[in-house]
Amino acid sequence: MQIVAEFITSAAGEGDFPRDQLPEVALVGRSNVGKSTLINALVRKAVARTSAAPGKTRLANFYRVQRGGGTPIYLVDLPGYGYARGGDDAAEEFGRLTDAYFARAIPDGTRASGPGTRLTTKPIASLLLVDARHPGLQSDLEAWKWLSAQPGPHGIVGTKVDKLTRAERVRNSRQLNTLFDVPVLLVSAQDGEGLEELWKTIASLPNRTAA
Ligand code: GDP
Repeated sequence: MQIVAEFITSAAGEGDFPRDQLPEVALVGRSNVGKSTLINALVRKAVARTSAAPGKTRLANFYRVQRGGGTPIYLVDLPGYGYARGGDDAAEEFGRLTDAYFARAIPDGTRASGPGTRLTTKPIASLLLVDARHPGLQSDLEAWKWLSAQPGPHGIVGTKVDKLTRAERVRNSRQLNTLFDVPVLLVSAQDGEGLEELWKTIASLPNRTAA
């Protein structure tokens, strides 16, 4: 299936977010969880920078993606620190960015009116990426709690499953499914495992937002 993907923008705040109504799927996860590698594997092209480019992790990176004749969507590489509040300046900054990001998904009627109020609601879904080798990290559990409180449907993806033995895969998969309250989809950007299923999930998520 043909995939067209392009990098659109790195957003530092609300003014930089795309203003069209294309659905968005935001990817959140700890640094090094394999987010950029997964985006590149999904679109079969090096659109996302996998090395730690300066400032990269402070910005929300938008990729416009169209698979086959489907509706184009944005895959959004979102700084995963919105849940890490508590005094740290960087965490506060990330918190502001992610708050502004998810505010676009809240229907106007339920949002406080003011100069920044938008007229339309953006369909946003989100996926938390966790390293399949390390089920139940405190930061991942906190991230899931935080993400679950954000608007739109949510899912969890376990990355780097190629690094697990058969026995570890069974054990970790069971642990992940128990720790989080939804089934965790295991994927490998390296050998492509789970990517077709992830595409199906990505395609279905924004529709669930609209429902
Ligand atoms: P990010 O910080 O979440 O964007 O993480 P990166 O995409 O830069 O990946 C971090 C490291 O994990 C890199 O060395 C990748 O090559 C490696 N990595 C990412 N995905 C996979 C995978 O599916 N399998 C394996 N074996 N390594 C992976």
